[in-house]
Amino acid sequence: MNSLERLLYYPLADALPGRGQAIEVRAGGDAGLTPAVKWIRMGLPFALDHINLWLLRDELDGRSGWTVVDCCITRDEVKADWERIFSSELDGLPIVRVLVTHMHPDHIGLAHWLCERWNAPLWISATDYYAARVGSQSTTGFGGAGAAAFFASHGLNDPDSVEKIRGRASYYPSMVPAVPPRFHRLRGAGVVRIGGRDWRCISGYGHAPEHIALYCESLELLISGDMLLPKISTNVSVHDTEPESNPLQAFLDSIEKFWPLPPETLVLPSHGKPFVGVHERIRQLREHHRDRLAEVTQACAQGPRTAADLLPVLFQRKLDLHQTTFAMGESVAHLHALWFADKLRRELGPDGVYRFLAP
Ligand SMILES: [Zn+2]
Repeated sequence: MNSLERLLYYPLADALPGRGQAIEVRAGGDAGLTPAVKWIRMGLPFALDHINLWLLRDELDGRSGWTVVDCCITRDEVKADWERIFSSELDGLPIVRVLVTHMHPDHIGLAHWLCERWNAPLWISATDYYAARVGSQSTTGFGGAGAAAFFASHGLNDPDSVEKIRGRASYYPSMVPAVPPRFHRLRGAGVVRIGGRDWRCISGYGHAPEHIALYCESLELLISGDMLLPKISTNVSVHDTEPESNPLQAFLDSIEKFWPLPPETLVLPSHGKPFVGVHERIRQLREHHRDRLAEVTQACAQGPRTAADLLPVLFQRKLDLHQTTFAMGESVAHLHALWFADKLRRELGPDGVYRFLAP
């Protein structure tokens, strides 16, 4: 546990759900009539080694059952974990709805399988639904030549990296081979009725096209998805499909939407442990990015810098190629936040590479 993490309170302490098992989340407010929320944890084959998923007791169209929030990626071992959950954690009831916070593979990967198997509808924001369909059906899957050219224009242009990024074309479809053919649209500020309680949708930008977090006032629970994580800072990247975006400012603006929530709110994040301390975590994230932006400003004050030049400034550890592409997106995001705020200007060199410098 790092020093910042210690400032948060973990009411479930070190309890973690085992494979194929769930832990009941004891919510505050008017909880207690039914076990309203269960926590599931599934493995991921990345540095980020797990994802949290949630089961909410529900009733839809007169059918009792469960709404599942997020799905994990398409893998046989994940399906096997789900089978264990189906047989031991659903009290013999069906899954009646699949709700997805955003289009990243660990969240939507198995939605097609869950929806088909249970004849359940998919609920998701429209922006993320269409992004997921494009990603799963494209031959490049958000990788390939477009991504390689984008990273090269920000200084990651050694032939070996360019070749490898070009070749990594089926990354998204390998984990999201299909997306359900229909969806029910979630919108920011909309209300979803789950298990007789109102859950308010809070839209978030900067991490995914249109991330939806869910807040239940009567249970004092926030399903934060990837927008508020207790330990790691949420990935905020510029991507080749929207190369002139300012996702870091969008992210910082979005987390302020959680500020009005009561301090006792139990946050259920997609990675890490459930925690209390929404305001402390927002303060930490503001500070984290303020410090990173100061470092970037300082580096660019010494001379023109590319996003690739800034990797050792922003990430003081060795990165493999996969981590490097994530880090590049983050580096461009920090440069763009300063560029949009007129704190840096940008020049395109004769080598086709963007460099950022003091205005
Ligand atoms: Zn995500």
